[in-house]
Amino acid sequence: MSPTAEQWAAAVAAVRSAGPDDEVLLICHVNPDGDALGSMLGLGLGLRRLGLTRLQATFPGRFDVPEPYASLPGLDLLVPESAAFADPRLVLVFDVAAESRLGALAGRLTGAPCSVVLDHHATNTGFGQVRLVDPLAAATSVVAEQLLDRLGVPLDAEIAECLYVALATDTGSFKFDMTTVAVHELAARLIATGIRPGDISRRVFDTRPFGAMKLTGEVLGRAVLDPAAAGGRGMVWTWATLADLERHAQPPYVLDTLIDPVRSVAEADVSVLVKEVAANEWAVSLRSKGAVDVSGVAISQGGGGHRLAAGFTGYGEPADVVAGVRRLLDDFLN
Ligand code: AMP
Ligand code: MN
Ligand code: MN
Repeated sequence: MSPTAEQWAAAVAAVRSAGPDDEVLLICHVNPDGDALGSMLGLGLGLRRLGLTRLQATFPGRFDVPEPYASLPGLDLLVPESAAFADPRLVLVFDVAAESRLGALAGRLTGAPCSVVLDHHATNTGFGQVRLVDPLAAATSVVAEQLLDRLGVPLDAEIAECLYVALATDTGSFKFDMTTVAVHELAARLIATGIRPGDISRRVFDTRPFGAMKLTGEVLGRAVLDPAAAGGRGMVWTWATLADLERHAQPPYVLDTLIDPVRSVAEADVSVLVKEVAANEWAVSLRSKGAVDVSGVAISQGGGGHRLAAGFTGYGEPADVVAGVRRLLDDFLN
């Protein structure tokens, strides 16, 4: 359920316990998306406004900020994993469903005297000392904004841009089920700081290299429709390899939103995108329109996510990974 009054109070106390000279490390998940980076940097800027100066933000793995997020405010807080404080006084974690998504940085969390986890995954595995995990929140930035409010940090345009990018990405531009009245009210408060949603959306969602378009064409062109899957509700799937990225000279982030055209196929309830991340290792994205709890499928494979959007790491050939998903779907039909 949503965080309790005690958990909010503990989170506020944890932040207030850090003095200006204390090292504070913010961490988000590997291959960061708009919510991971936006909620982390938005809160980081808020902590700076509170007078904390020894602040770092980081994430595990390749130190690559996807182009759509390369002009977020607060990027100066970012350091590569290798440069992150070794023994921070306080660790804050953003949008991380499972400790595995922290890679080697998981040790910073367990080693710190104080840690606060901000998240919104129902599948959150319950790590960290103070847990602000709200499965009813549309994005981790919703939780971040509530913490800033409780800390008495007013929204300004820089913080708002970070939180807005996070909110817009995780709601699919205010289209998904979680897009509640509260989400629109938060968006209104953010926009009231003077940020420009049109400019932000163009930068974040509607600007991709020519090569990315050609790559998208190929990956969508090889999609397979399996009408009998998911108890006859249908599944559509496709895959992208590292060689595909290389052939078009594209970075991995251009595949992050490729599940969207796949999941729009009318003849399928379930959509699957299998993306190669290393030799024989695949990041599997799962989406459902309601027939299947895909988070159940993902958890059974060591991953996580939300009921209608989830993921896990698969191994072997893409067709075999998908065959495995197909078998599991029947166990998680709603
Ligand atoms: P994606 O398909 O990568 O957009 O991810 C969809 C949802 O599943 C997001 O909420 C992710 O945080 C979650 N997710 C994806 N991959 C994993 C994983 N390997 N472990 C846990 N959660 C994941
Ligand atoms: Mn995320
Ligand atoms: Mn999120």
